[in-house]
Amino acid sequence: MKISQIISVLEKKAPLAYQESYDNAGLIIGNKHMDCSGILCTLDVTGEIIQEAIQHNCNLIVAHHPIIFKGLSKINGANEVERIVIDAIKNDIAIYAVHTNLDNISDGVNSTIAQQLGLINTRILAPKKNGLVKLVSFVPRDFAEKVKNALFEAGAGNIGEYSETSFSSEGTGSFKGSQNSNPVIGQKGIRELVKEIRIEVILPSYLQSTVLLALKDAHPYEEVAYDFFPLNNENQLVGSGMIGELTIPIASTEFLKLLKAKFTLSVIKHSPIITEKVQKIAFCGGSGSFLIPLAKAAKADFFVSADIKYHDFFEADNQMVIADIGHWESEQYTVDLVFAELTAKFPNFAVLKTANMTNPVRYFLG
Ligand SMILES: [Zn+2]
Repeated sequence: MKISQIISVLEKKAPLAYQESYDNAGLIIGNKHMDCSGILCTLDVTGEIIQEAIQHNCNLIVAHHPIIFKGLSKINGANEVERIVIDAIKNDIAIYAVHTNLDNISDGVNSTIAQQLGLINTRILAPKKNGLVKLVSFVPRDFAEKVKNALFEAGAGNIGEYSETSFSSEGTGSFKGSQNSNPVIGQKGIRELVKEIRIEVILPSYLQSTVLLALKDAHPYEEVAYDFFPLNNENQLVGSGMIGELTIPIASTEFLKLLKAKFTLSVIKHSPIITEKVQKIAFCGGSGSFLIPLAKAAKADFFVSADIKYHDFFEADNQMVIADIGHWESEQYTVDLVFAELTAKFPNFAVLKTANMTNPVRYFLG
């Protein structure tokens, strides 16, 4: 199997277009046309992870955090990142990162947190804007279903929990082919009037060229009339953080105990407890302090995330409790998520989860 086949599975689940502008997700080291001997899944790439990959004959490491994030100006082994890059290249090991694109999908990093906490009615806390377009095309009546099916197949027509959404209306199309034309209906040089169906579908803008190809492929006309309109709608399925509910309200201290148990924590940093019972939980795996205002506005009882700074805790402002459970801890189930995706798609292939604990943070409990 080629590394490119593994990449296409990962990018179908977490499209690169969904990563944040500052991110560096994708194939960071290696050649996608290489044969893959085995995959090692991890949250971080460290020196130990490279050794583990060599030991288990895995020439592809799939990590959450990109090993090269802000670029490298020298590769002479002066620091850990440079040494890892040198080691990976010397040993023909490819490194792929599925980072904020996995954070930003509804069945990604945050869904693993929701599952651990048993949350229901979950939704994206900060849905992304400007990622959707509308396609309108005009199709002779007998071909309308065929074209719609092709558009759905190519990824158009998904709104929240609904797929295959579209709108159709009937009208009359006109055209007159030139002497070089080859019309399917009517004759060249004569204006033709045809009953056509106007089909409207919504799609993520990164799929525009794929969907256009599918349209042209399924449409019977030599020249296909279509319009793409940019939309201001939010994409409910893509964005940062999540919010959901516990099935029943529980005491704040019980919720902290639940966090501790599910994420195997020795300690939790949190702002003062303000309510007896809690039910609405906002959360974001990794560094989520930028979502504090949105969690508050959504009337969350708790905001669970990591890398919360001293002054950020003040922002709880007696309206909710902010809990910092640690960066690695909050994202620990991401490795299982990637592993499950790859083993489901490649059941007979060597996909491994790292046995190394890559968290660089330790707690001294005396
Ligand atoms: Zn992270």
